[in-house]
Amino acid sequence: MTLSVPHAYDVVVAGGGIVGAACALACARAGLHVALVEREFPGSGATAAGMGHIVVMDDSEAQFSLSRRSQQLWQALSTTLPPNAEYETCGTIWIAADEEELAEAARKRSYLGERGVPCQLLSRRELNTLEPNLRSDLAGGLLVSEDAVVYPPAAALHLARELQSHGSVVIQGRTVKHLGDGVAQLDDGSKLIAPKLVNAMGADAAICTPGLPVKKRKGHLAITDRYPEFVRHQLVELGYLKSAHALTTDSVAFNVQPRQTGQILIGSSRQYGNEDSQVNQEILSAMLQRAETYMPGIASLSVIRVWTGFRAATPDKLPLIGPFPGDPTLWLATGHEGLGITTSLATAELLASAFTGTEPPIPPEPFLPSRFKNEPTHPITLSQEMP
Ligand SMILES: Cc1cc2nc3c(=O)[nH]c(=O)nc-3n(C[C@H](O)[C@H](O)[C@H](O)COP(=O)(O)OP(=O)(O)OC[C@H]3O[C@@H](n4cnc5c(N)ncnc54)[C@H](O)[C@@H]3O)c2cc1C
Repeated sequence: MTLSVPHAYDVVVAGGGIVGAACALACARAGLHVALVEREFPGSGATAAGMGHIVVMDDSEAQFSLSRRSQQLWQALSTTLPPNAEYETCGTIWIAADEEELAEAARKRSYLGERGVPCQLLSRRELNTLEPNLRSDLAGGLLVSEDAVVYPPAAALHLARELQSHGSVVIQGRTVKHLGDGVAQLDDGSKLIAPKLVNAMGADAAICTPGLPVKKRKGHLAITDRYPEFVRHQLVELGYLKSAHALTTDSVAFNVQPRQTGQILIGSSRQYGNEDSQVNQEILSAMLQRAETYMPGIASLSVIRVWTGFRAATPDKLPLIGPFPGDPTLWLATGHEGLGITTSLATAELLASAFTGTEPPIPPEPFLPSRFKNEPTHPITLSQEMP
């Protein structure tokens, strides 16, 4: 990465995760001169900790439109991604353990089907045929075939390299200390000047923009040794919907992903109000036990690494994309919670269209930061979300 630093840019993006890298590249592709500033290296934050499930979600129309648009952009990008980004359209199977969850799968099928997303209800037998290592008494599932997986840090690095090929710059190893009023001040005292500044600092966004309704939500993941074909689709339980109202603090859910290497990513957990990055043995055990409940054979596989990461959570589970009220130079692209790998590309498209005055591909209003203008607090609300 280059450290040559021209003084003035059209756009300075602070934070080189998947969201910041995507925003910077979309702006550069639109003809703007961009600096992307990252305190470590591109893709090193939550992006490196994420699962890389590119998934269409239907919690709200806004979430659907952002995730679906993004999924289509990932499909288009996939032909240019390097092999180490491990992009694979493996599809998601939402697993129904009982009749109640099967009804939820049917609702989901109707919702997605009405909006043009290919999906198919699976009987118990069909589920067992597609995923023979699942417990055999599950009720069925819903296959969403265009969902995909990607290796997020490699994808972020690729976007950052593409940015440089457009003549824009990546400044890594520098921390942004101040962001506002058209100036990004770095920890070495240098200043970058731009009419548009973007806070894409993920879960740390509120450090530079105090008062932002963004909080950390901790997650654990584990990865196994190589067991090709043990899992063939991204598998997610629908059961978390049933227990959602009982959730007050920590939760785990069955969510496993096949990697191209034959490894299996096992998730996932959510912890509120825990900012300690250490692996929590109780949460890890609960997460692995949950996986065993759905896939008994998983107990005999070797887990070779476990880690944690922090999602950037907002009170309404939607990201903050748009101008920051009170500073006409400052824009936000943060708060993507458990969907930021998926929604990064549509976020970038929204931002670039706002900067260049072109028609936004989807309605931007639900994501505007001004929706929280008079709400400095951050209550935890419960709704459907990725496990
Ligand atoms: C366990 C887990 C599983 C997940 N699974 C999925 C999934 O399957 N699918 C999905 O879509 N999403 C998933 N997510 C969510 C996803 O990882 C995030 O939403 C996404 O990575 C957010 O990207 P970001 O660029 O906003 O943040 P980050 O990747 O955290 O990037 C922010 C960057 O800003 C930098 N930074 C911070 N402060 C400064 C500063 N002052 N100066 C300079 N740089 C700074 C950081 O170093 C960091 O690199 C998961 C998250 C977790 C934790």
